[in-house]
Amino acid sequence: MSALVIAEHDHATVKPATLNTVTAALACGGEVHVLVAGANAAEAGKAAAQIAGVTKVIVADSPSLAENLAENVAAQVLAIAGNYSHILFPSTANGKNVAPRVAAKLDVAQISDITAVVSADTFERPIYAGNAIATVQSTDATKVITVRTTGFDAAAATGGSASVETAEGVADSGKSAFVGREVTKSERPELTAAKIIVSGGRALGSAEKFQEVMAPLADKLNAGLGASRAAVDAGYAPNDWQVGQTGKIVAPQLYIAAGISGAIQHLAGMKDSKVIVAINKDEEAPIFSVADYGLVADLFVAVPELVKAL
Ligand SMILES: Cc1cc2nc3c(=O)[nH]c(=O)nc-3n(C[C@H](O)[C@H](O)[C@H](O)COP(=O)(O)OP(=O)(O)OC[C@H]3O[C@@H](n4cnc5c(N)ncnc54)[C@H](O)[C@@H]3O)c2cc1C
Repeated sequence: MSALVIAEHDHATVKPATLNTVTAALACGGEVHVLVAGANAAEAGKAAAQIAGVTKVIVADSPSLAENLAENVAAQVLAIAGNYSHILFPSTANGKNVAPRVAAKLDVAQISDITAVVSADTFERPIYAGNAIATVQSTDATKVITVRTTGFDAAAATGGSASVETAEGVADSGKSAFVGREVTKSERPELTAAKIIVSGGRALGSAEKFQEVMAPLADKLNAGLGASRAAVDAGYAPNDWQVGQTGKIVAPQLYIAAGISGAIQHLAGMKDSKVIVAINKDEEAPIFSVADYGLVADLFVAVPELVKAL
């Protein structure tokens, strides 16, 4: 029995989500191998070999894998899938794009978004926006799994000494082609990797106010900026800042929610944060039910004061 983790990487480095996925794979009980499917990805392969607990890294290098096209990555996984009892992807946009293709081709049920490994065939996953935890047992020969990274600690990025093998890269499927990529460049930490997140809600009232009030606090704390869906839908904050059931799932050390009511769909994305601070002028706001520290106050007064005090 061994598990294959599909690395999230940029061809040179391995992204943190891979480390949490390795921890989940180790909990399945067997050896853990990592597939780095990329182009000129030897450096990412070397980085993966350092991850504690990993015994083998397979680097598949091909121009067809340069842009992470899901059809090609899925074909690469399927080329070696027969050797594994478990195939685990981080539950990221990339992982969620490839895993269902692999599960369908293997004719197995995908086990999505697991937060705990009970045993090699039994897993926990949140349902109903995190209000219930389902325990799922799979009798499929191969378990194709996506891993909610906030459910597992990150494996140590160094200290391992896995062997590195190369695998023949797959040919281009021809089913999709890379056209272009628009990447938001930000000095701030990426939301899912940020240790501190400062999040604003509908109460901010405009994009200008959102920047004026929330950005200085984020700057002071070197925090990622998040938002509720209401703030995103109103155009106060970009889409990729949305935290929640239909946004990003985060679990930073500190989550500060200002002017966010705490609807269950928002809580589903942040309630596993280690320390939650809520600022809301309504003392009945549901956000206070999950907050470790609550401040009943007008955020337009409280947040600038906080910035001044820091
Ligand atoms: C299928 C589905 C998926 C969803 N997914 C998500 C999701 O991923 N993420 C998400 O966030 N939501 C999601 N929602 C929306 C969710 O239900 C709420 O509508 C949304 O979270 C509300 O955002 P909000 O708290 O910013 O706004 P509101 O609910 O309007 O709350 C604003 C809060 O600000 C407070 N306030 C107002 N003025 C001030 C002030 N001056 N100072 C301090 N406090 C003030 C108010 O007391 C209030 O509590 C989803 C909904 C559905 C149906």
